[in-house]
This record gives sequence, C-alpha cells and structure tokens, in this order.
Amino acid sequence: MPVHLPPLSRRSFLRRILWTSLGLATTPCLASSGVGRRRQDLHRYALMADTHIAADRTRQHGGIVMAEHLERTVRQILTRPAVPAASFIAGDLAFSQGETGDYRQLVDLLAPLRAAGLPVHLALGNHDHRDRFLEAVPWAVRPDRPLRSHCCAVVPSPRVNWFILDSLEVTLSTPGLLGPDQLAWLGRALDARRRRPAIILLHHHPDLAPNTVGLKDTEALLAVIRPRTQVKACIFGHTHRWGLSRDESGIHMINLPPTAYVFREEFPSGWVEARVRTDGLDLRLWCLNDRHPEHGREVQLTWRPG
Ligand SMILES: [Zn+2]
Repeated sequence: MPVHLPPLSRRSFLRRILWTSLGLATTPCLASSGVGRRRQDLHRYALMADTHIAADRTRQHGGIVMAEHLERTVRQILTRPAVPAASFIAGDLAFSQGETGDYRQLVDLLAPLRAAGLPVHLALGNHDHRDRFLEAVPWAVRPDRPLRSHCCAVVPSPRVNWFILDSLEVTLSTPGLLGPDQLAWLGRALDARRRRPAIILLHHHPDLAPNTVGLKDTEALLAVIRPRTQVKACIFGHTHRWGLSRDESGIHMINLPPTAYVFREEFPSGWVEARVRTDGLDLRLWCLNDRHPEHGREVQLTWRPG
C-alpha cells in the first residue's frame, strides 16, 4: 500500500493554524512556509531519512531534539531559491517502535512542506510499525495499492520513476527484508516501465554480508535490479551515515544522512537536495550544522548506460 502525504490546500493549512491557536491541535504548528511565489522546480527533490520523531516533540537523543531537527530541515527546504517538487523520507519515521502519536507529530511537522505544494512520500523502517502508522494516518493510503502486505509504490515524475520499497520486517529488529512477493512486484513494475530511468528508495542498506544488520535479501534485490538497466540509483538510510558508492553493475548507492537521530556528532545530519538531469543526478548535502566540512558538498552522478 502506497503511503503518501498529499499537498495541503492553503485553506486546510490555515484551518490547522487556527486549530493550533485555539489549542485544539496536539502540538504547536510550524510557522507558515514562507514559500510565497518562489519557483518550484519539477526536477528537484528533498531527500530525508531517519527522522525518529516521537509524540513528545521535546524528546531528545544524544542532546538532539529530533522534532527541532526536522523543523529546521523543513525550513531549509522551503527557503531554497528553487523549491523541490516533492520530498521523500527513507524510513525510521518514528522514534522507537512506531506509536500512533509519533506519526501524528510527524504529520504535523511536515505540514508546511505540504502547504507549499510538496507531497511527502514515505518508506517504513525497523523503528516503524505498519499497522499503527496506517491507524494514525489512514487517509495517506491510496486505493491503488500494489500489495496489501507492504507499503510499496511507484511515484512517476517527469524524468524518473521512483520505486518506494518497504523493508520493515519486524519492528525494533534491526535488519530488514523485502520478501519474495514485494521483489516479484518490483520486477513486474520495472518491466512495465522500461523507458524512463528508475530510482529505488528504501530504508535498509543493501549488504551482502552474512548476518547483516542491513537488508537480508540484498542478493535477491540485486538480482532484480542489476539486469534491468533502467535502474540507475538506490537510495536508503538506516546506517545514519552519509555516503556514496557504486555497485559493480554501475547502480549508484546513496546512503542518506540522518535528518534527526544522530549516532555520532562528527557525522553529517540534515538532508540531501537532488536534481534529476536527463543523464544523471546532481546531489547537494545540506547539514544542520553549517560549519560541518561536508555542508554544501555537491556531487554529480551520471547514469549507467541502458
Ligand atoms: Zn534509524
């Protein structure tokens, strides 16, 4: 079942602010997006991961208030000269075990993005809980669900098709699994969309090591995506460590930094701005610590042939 938070109309966003001012909302709403008439770029995307939002927005981990990190990230996204067309979060949306209140808080924190016209596409991670997520935001599930068992989806865009996978196997168990049904769906969905480049987005990192804490069926995933040369990149979180590499078949492996839950202070946290070219992807890392040596780093990736 695809999980998407659609853009909010200005009217419903204003109603939300009103509820907040009357004390009827669960949390204080963020300030108005301030996007105004800024240009929205159809080929630009905001990529986040590991938001780990708790129902209590003052919740801290390692001296970081996760809600505050997400709030600052949202503000950075909306104050770019060209506003992205959409945003993606690669799993671990919730703080620890995916409580319904965590998801309600997350939706509240993401409201300014939606009010600015950006849909938010979500993947689930090992700190999420599928049923409680769907209970918290039943309106986010679209009826055109490819599988009832997993939150997977295809998101078409002008230059690339995004394939969102659901690698949540068991909540609070670190490794992830896609499973044969989801992989079979992915193969069929890719075969039906051969002409446009494809980007895979999931929570767990592909890892062929035995007893991995990443994706347990990495070999099966690679068997699906390597021969289908329209697959150009695979984007994930989970390690909480920003990094870029290339698979032996030429697929770009993009490990997003954590947006909010920081394992080690010296690792970047924040988001990645991605602009899709016809022949590749431009990435820019935005750190919440603007003195981090990697803050603002730009990388140009070129698609493998095919
Ligand atoms: Zn995480």
